[in-house]
Amino acid sequence: MADYDYDVLVIGAGPGGYVAAIRAAQLGLKTACADGRATLGGTCLNVGCIPSKAMLHASEYYDAAANGMMAKMGIDVTPKLNLPAMHAQRIDAVKGLTGGIEFLFKKNKVDWLKGYAAFTGKDSVEIAGKTYRAKNIIIATGSSVTPLPGVNVDNDKQIIVDSTGALELAKVPDHMVVIGGGVIGLELGSVWRRLGAKVTCVEFLDQILPGMDADIRKDANRIFKKQGIEFKLKTKVTGAAVKGKKAVLTLEPAAGGDAETLEADVVLVSIGRRPNTDGLALDKAGLAVNARGQIETDHDFSTQVPGIWAIGDVIPGPMLAHKAEDEGIACAENIAGQTGIVNHDVIPSVVYTWPEIAGVGLTEEQAREKGEVKVGKFPMAGNSRAKTNHEPDGFVKIIADAKTDRVLGVWCIASVAGTMIAEAAIAMEFGATSEDIAYTCHAHPTHSEAVKEAAMAVTGKPIHV
Ligand code: FAD
Ligand code: NAD
Repeated sequence: MADYDYDVLVIGAGPGGYVAAIRAAQLGLKTACADGRATLGGTCLNVGCIPSKAMLHASEYYDAAANGMMAKMGIDVTPKLNLPAMHAQRIDAVKGLTGGIEFLFKKNKVDWLKGYAAFTGKDSVEIAGKTYRAKNIIIATGSSVTPLPGVNVDNDKQIIVDSTGALELAKVPDHMVVIGGGVIGLELGSVWRRLGAKVTCVEFLDQILPGMDADIRKDANRIFKKQGIEFKLKTKVTGAAVKGKKAVLTLEPAAGGDAETLEADVVLVSIGRRPNTDGLALDKAGLAVNARGQIETDHDFSTQVPGIWAIGDVIPGPMLAHKAEDEGIACAENIAGQTGIVNHDVIPSVVYTWPEIAGVGLTEEQAREKGEVKVGKFPMAGNSRAKTNHEPDGFVKIIADAKTDRVLGVWCIASVAGTMIAEAAIAMEFGATSEDIAYTCHAHPTHSEAVKEAAMAVTGKPIHV
């Protein structure tokens, strides 16, 4: 240890990095975590998961009051939007949680090195003009918004924005155009649609939410359309001009054809995110990135350079906070000589719209490519709790291996799909069959009974449909 400042130095304090640092310290390793942001928590806590959920939660209440949902339950209200107060509770949530990480760092004796790190060698980095040597370095630098050529983001002007700008709009736009029908576009598009904006979503592919099960994508599209979001599928944006307080977008069919223009008060660019490696001077450490700009690792999160590890959005796999966190824990445990494993086949993903959309494991299409499957579906309209709560949309779908009955994937659209999917993830982690889920007693009346009924439907015997 004599030559080293730290056993473990983590670069980046997002959910991957801060969790890795805390776990390493818990395991008795002398640990530091570098980040140049003013507060800890990375994208997720500062400008991602947490502030977006704060706006989604608040706008859901507003929408329930405005769209007649509350009236259905005998509560007559006319909502009045106080946008500054809504933003204030978002800022408050971020402040509380990022401050919480600072507290956890102090409690676990993790040093926060304030500044951006660049490699100066295989075991050394420079941060704010000072060089540190560490026995192990974990790269957890996360990701940033993928730019769209010809559509220049300027969050200050609040006309063409990325997700960070879209969280902070000072007024509800009359017309918001969302470029990209992925998770960010649908979540943040939903926020502003609920608060009164007309929202148009321009998606390059023939359906929204790529990567999800085809039935889910189709039904989600139907539900969002019903809520008032207009979709322009198979369409690409080729340019944007700001004219006064508006943006004029040029659109073309994805396959080529005549261009059209579309005017918007706010344009959200949400076409994906790319790994952060610029400025790390990876070459000084002898590291390179792959064709997608990611750092490749082995299953234990070691890179090709001994002593350098990588986790989270900067490595291949879904860009999700819980995936980054689990990799952080496993990586720290591997550094400490334990066996840290992440099962990348069972990473749930959730879109926090209303209703929520969630999935884990294989889509039906992926499963069918691998072999014969049995599929069970159960509509939320047949679930007593969803019906009572006036939440008829959505379904649960379970895909199981035709021979072994082992569950290969679970997908659902339901008001609380994000909570329901945890059961599916645990079942799959334990190698459950659809019969295991079908014969597990589920509390009544809960939305989760729909998971049980979908499992019963795999062998054709649901009760309530
Ligand atoms: P990050 O959280 O990106 O953190 C990386 C940190 O590294 C940053 O703080 C950065 O400043 C720092 N850094 C970069 N370079 C350096 C350097 N050279 N030196 C020092 N520090 C450096 N995921 C979910 O699972 N659920 C959600 O609900 C969800 N919502 C999202 C909403 C939005 C609007 C966005 C943008 C993302 C959302 N995500 C969500 C994705 C989630 O935020 C990321 O998957 C997660 O933050 C990745 O964690 P990470 O630790 O790999 O990187
Ligand atoms: P995404 O990959 O989810 O969606 C991007 C969409 O843009 C895709 O549908 C893609 O086909 C489309 N697209 C790409 N280029 C286009 C173009 N030129 N014109 C029109 N459409 C185009 O990316 P995102 O929504 O920006 O989110 C980035 C990442 O952040 C995702 O990987 C996601 O996992 C993560 N995230 C997760 C959550 C969550 O877990 N709830 C929330 C927000 C973000």
